[in-house]
Amino acid sequence: MDFELTEEQKAHRKEFFDVCKELEKKRPASFVGLEAVFEIDECWQFHLDCAKEFGKRGWLALAWPPEYGGSGTMMDKVLFAEARGYHGIPGVDIFGVQMLAPTALTAASEAIRKEFLPPIARGEVMWCELWSEPNAGSDLATLSATAIKKGDEYIINGQKTWNTGAHRADWGFGVFKTDPNARKHHNMTFILLDMKTPGVTVRPIPYIDGDAPFAEVYFDDVHVPAKNIVGQENEGWSVVNLLAGFERSGMGEIMGMFRELEEIVQYCNETKRNGKPLSKDPLVRNRVAQLACELEAARAIAYRIADLQNRNEMALMDASAAKIFYSELGERFAFVATDIAGPFGQVKTSRWAPAHGAWEKKFQECFVTIISMGTNEIQRNIIAWYGLGLPRMK
Ligand SMILES: Cc1cc2nc3c(=O)[nH]c(=O)nc-3n(C[C@H](O)[C@H](O)[C@H](O)COP(=O)(O)OP(=O)(O)OC[C@H]3O[C@@H](n4cnc5c(N)ncnc54)[C@H](O)[C@@H]3O)c2cc1C
Repeated sequence: MDFELTEEQKAHRKEFFDVCKELEKKRPASFVGLEAVFEIDECWQFHLDCAKEFGKRGWLALAWPPEYGGSGTMMDKVLFAEARGYHGIPGVDIFGVQMLAPTALTAASEAIRKEFLPPIARGEVMWCELWSEPNAGSDLATLSATAIKKGDEYIINGQKTWNTGAHRADWGFGVFKTDPNARKHHNMTFILLDMKTPGVTVRPIPYIDGDAPFAEVYFDDVHVPAKNIVGQENEGWSVVNLLAGFERSGMGEIMGMFRELEEIVQYCNETKRNGKPLSKDPLVRNRVAQLACELEAARAIAYRIADLQNRNEMALMDASAAKIFYSELGERFAFVATDIAGPFGQVKTSRWAPAHGAWEKKFQECFVTIISMGTNEIQRNIIAWYGLGLPRMK
């Protein structure tokens, strides 16, 4: 098997890395951790600036059909994610670019694609995901927020929660019950709405440390044009499942860990414990080497996912398996890094904090990808049921 990149791919990869390396020099010092863009104003602004830059270069529409402004291949998309992950650069809206766009390209009407894809490709409009509710998380099909059709509008009422970046987003995509009398899974519609519509109230939810990456969103008689849907009315469940596959493929996260591995190795080389370099401690070496092995496996998974997406052959099980692997690898990275750093691993803002506090932040945040996008228990259920044909658990 030949995994070598073509000359053209190598050239694209170099360009992605060169641009991201330059952008890294402008990254605010406060940009630490996955969720900084949603938590800190200057990080959000940096995200918007990077998005504009990538939009100008056509990199937010990689692998899209040319009629919607697309260019490049799925492999270019992976190489771009690799460069951004390595240099820690935002600018790609996970909700608009990574989730809604591929979903719309598969399931939306031509009119919706023409209206919503170009601003996403230019990096001008940021999105959020409005799915979870206080009583509907893993079992999203039990949701209760409604969108009742009246003339050529839906009137939305209810509450969503845990919506990442909803306090920053311009637009949101959500699922709402459009036929309360229909049976489960055939009673909800996938709706696009402007977050500035009257009746939408967004309240940030702070973590225990005060940072607020997500929000709860209340809908009080919110009028949305009935044309703003993806897929068929009352068939939003199939759109949710389609989008979830794109949501869970995780290429950027995997590539970001390569940089973290370099930082861990550098720390081990430069730091002495009990008069001996950490890099000579057999237990430390063992754990770091194990991370390196798992990271290579993760990279192979990311390439495979890209290839499957390219051929339109990605099954829900593939996305679930990738999500479990990279999210739990992220957790192991956080544990190994903070274990190796000892008490220093617990500080974020001190000059003694390794990796400018990134390890402490990662330790605090590493549960994020394990729970969000459907918990890993649910992903294992999907693999068992869809992938392996085991009986479905009621
Ligand atoms: C950081 C973060 C960001 C998020 N961002 C968004 C967002 O942008 N938009 C959005 O809509 N939502 C978002 N969420 C919400 C997320 O999708 C839900 O938290 C997730 O789906 C789980 O739902 P829940 O919290 O209600 O937990 P529950 O569904 O109540 O689950 C509780 C526990 O029970 C387990 N469990 C439940 N059912 C089963 C089962 N059948 N088999 C085995 N175990 C089961 C779960 O795995 C979990 O451990 C985010 C969550 C987090 C943590």
